[in-house]
Amino acid sequence: MNIILFGPPGAGKGTQAKFLVTKLKGYQISTGDMLRDEIQKNSDIGKKIIDDMNEGKFVSDEIVNNLIKNVIFDDQKKGKLIFDGYPRSLSQAEKLDLLLKNSNQKIDFIFFLNVNKDTIIKRIEKRKIIEKRSDDELDTILKRYDTYMETTKPVLEFYSKKPNFYEIDGALEIDQITNKIGAFLKV
Ligand code: AMP
Repeated sequence: MNIILFGPPGAGKGTQAKFLVTKLKGYQISTGDMLRDEIQKNSDIGKKIIDDMNEGKFVSDEIVNNLIKNVIFDDQKKGKLIFDGYPRSLSQAEKLDLLLKNSNQKIDFIFFLNVNKDTIIKRIEKRKIIEKRSDDELDTILKRYDTYMETTKPVLEFYSKKPNFYEIDGALEIDQITNKIGAFLKV
């Protein structure tokens, strides 16, 4: 089963992705983690993206699409992909469709965790203390939220027309969201 978790930063996608990884023996595909990894390694990609990441801007589609390509064609992970924080632009969503088609796969469920700005800010502030994430200063948080909402509008329109799109209230407690997702998946 391939699943997309969609929603603004702080909506709880990562938490739900971890639940799904355990439940479905899947693989969490977080482009945020992959990009942070490149920065940590100080790779060529890392050097290119560090400024955008720190400013809360989106990294270029080209870089993200290239990183994701390897994952989709990884035989071990096929049919067990839990996308967390990807795709975030229409170009990424279209590219994903193409990559899935070319690897004989499809998306089984798209979950949109919808949550308002106030809830997001509270949650990210909490996570900032726990995880000590460097790109999570308040200014960045707000910028990330706005960028997300602006850029992902076309992505939301793209996915919301699909029959396997489900919107879930992201302001619910973590367990409640987990239960709702579990009910849709029948697991
Ligand atoms: P996240 O950990 O998902 O909140 O992502 C952290 C940061 O990584 C974002 O603010 C973006 O700068 C970058 N990023 C993560 N995923 C993507 C993506 N799919 N497209 C573009 N930029 C991304």
